[in-house]
Amino acid sequence: MTKERFFYFATMKFSDYNISDEIKAQLKVLGFNKPTDIQYKAIKHILNGEDVMAIAQTGTGKTAAFAIPTINILQKKGKYVKKGVKCLVMVPTRELAKQIASVYREIGKKTSVKVFGLFGGVEQEQQIATLNNGVDVVVATPGRMFDLISQGALDLSSVKFLILDEADLMLDLGFAKDITDVMRFIPQKRQTLFFSATISKKIKKLAYDVVKNAIRIQISPKNPVAKTITHTIIDVEMDDKRFFLENIIKENEESKVIVFVRTKVRAERVVAAMERVSISAEGLHGSIDQKERFAILERFAKGENKVLITTDVACRGIDIPNVDSVVNYDIPENPENYVHRCGRTGRGKNRGQALSFCSSDEKELVEAIEEYTGDKIDRFDLSKGDYLEILDGSDDGGNNWKKLIDEENKFNDLDLEW
Ligand code: ADP
Ligand code: MG
Repeated sequence: MTKERFFYFATMKFSDYNISDEIKAQLKVLGFNKPTDIQYKAIKHILNGEDVMAIAQTGTGKTAAFAIPTINILQKKGKYVKKGVKCLVMVPTRELAKQIASVYREIGKKTSVKVFGLFGGVEQEQQIATLNNGVDVVVATPGRMFDLISQGALDLSSVKFLILDEADLMLDLGFAKDITDVMRFIPQKRQTLFFSATISKKIKKLAYDVVKNAIRIQISPKNPVAKTITHTIIDVEMDDKRFFLENIIKENEESKVIVFVRTKVRAERVVAAMERVSISAEGLHGSIDQKERFAILERFAKGENKVLITTDVACRGIDIPNVDSVVNYDIPENPENYVHRCGRTGRGKNRGQALSFCSSDEKELVEAIEEYTGDKIDRFDLSKGDYLEILDGSDDGGNNWKKLIDEENKFNDLDLEW
């Protein structure tokens, strides 16, 4: 390749692409001028009708990498093919279904491609009515999707694209059966696209069984944690974690922070612990009513609430602008989720930081993460004196027993998963 040619590719803009004027105009509105690496590598193959299996770090624009070419194809073919769902995007959480549907809607705004986010936890009647009116793209979580298929309200027999976002999770235990089942409802002749930031050897093999001749694109330096993220571990004993969180939040009042904890109960407890020291925070987890879950996320996105305390329900895919830092209040039990949690900050060109609290009991989990990422994570060295000073500096008297007991009772009936 000559130098000039290389230069040409390096500066290739969306305006040079063989995509519709409507999409180009809208990408301009969105401020998308040049494709990101993954978009540059994936879009041309998808436009060519090929299957694609793409791995690229968090925050690198994977959604548009599949949305731009699929909208382009649907827009062109729209007039000629029969009515019905032509593109099915499957995702693991309701929040992600809503977000990806809205990215599709934004990119396709000047086209006539109709997009629908389909998920549980909300009324079915309205969803059935929308489907009856005809939609081209459905972004779905499996549960509600199967409900509507079995009621005859969702017909997938004209699907041309099957897309799995967070593909490794979708193909792993828990979702695997849903994916095998959905294959029965969609035509064999289709384009299949897998996108993810992480993938294990086992899942990779499984994925290639599903898409045998897929174009494989992997944009991943050895360490899957995005380069834009500075991530550090600090030794903090379990009972001291809330004081450290209090300190960090009070020292960085303007920052937008996502705090990840292991269980729903802990999410509620940490919110309560922050309230006791006058920090307003909101908890997000799978036992909260769905409308409220969306509202909580929206308040956080708008910056009306700056501290979001959540479980792994929010670790994958969620794209919220300007999250300054991620705190792993508990070390994730699944090493991949470390990468995904950290990836909620440092998105696109932004930089971010992630700090993980490691108690004596969690050292093995950290080792597993380091083995997985292939890199030692930096340690934050804190002297014994500084450690004690953080505990002393807390505004929590710690002796409000009645309140603590009330909280205990309130949270006991939540079950354990996200
Ligand atoms: P990923 O799925 O890889 O984690 P997303 O698709 O959520 O990443 O995109 C991350 C962010 O980058 C989003 O806020 C999106 O609007 C932005 N983005 C995507 N593509 C471009 C582009 N070509 N130019 C500028 N910003 C982009
Ligand atoms: Mg994504």
